[in-house]
Amino acid sequence: MIAIEKLKAQLEQRLVELGAAVEQREADFSEPLDADFSEQANQLEDLETSEAMEAAHIQEGRQIRAALQRIADGSYGLCANCGAKIAPARLEALPTATLCINCAP
Ligand SMILES: [Zn+2]
Repeated sequence: MIAIEKLKAQLEQRLVELGAAVEQREADFSEPLDADFSEQANQLEDLETSEAMEAAHIQEGRQIRAALQRIADGSYGLCANCGAKIAPARLEALPTATLCINCAP
């Protein structure tokens, strides 16, 4: 049996970190573009990388919130497809897993 409370604390902590990362990004890119053209290109490149990262963060945040919801309603650790218990080792490696090893793509 894995320690749900510990896992929950970890997920909540991660959610806080993700929120901070998104806020930091907004602060970074609220500055106007540099007058120098090559510097502008760099800034736009950074912006693209950062947008891809933000999308990943938002996605991860959603999965974490869903996992916390499952912890709250008692369905955490059960496969969303077949209802079997997800192996503790799998949940430790991937706390937001919703499928057991047999059902995972
Ligand atoms: Zn399954």
